[in-house]
Amino acid sequence: MPIYEFQCEECGEIFEELIFGNDFEGIVCKKCKSPKVKKLISRTSPKTSSGSGSSCSGCKGGSCSTCH
Ligand SMILES: [Zn+2]
Repeated sequence: MPIYEFQCEECGEIFEELIFGNDFEGIVCKKCKSPKVKKLISRTSPKTSSGSGSSCSGCKGGSCSTCH
């Protein structure tokens, strides 16, 4: 099951959502229904950094939409 974690940019709520394929549209916050949510790094990743670290482990650019 492809479960992704999202964080609401409005209230900071973190929730999980089942995503099939690349259908990331229509994802809204479970708490405030805001569509302004960002996908977090999958918990299945072995390189999960705690907190908002400055280093980007997902790419070499140091900043990207996936792991920034
Ligand atoms: Zn919210």
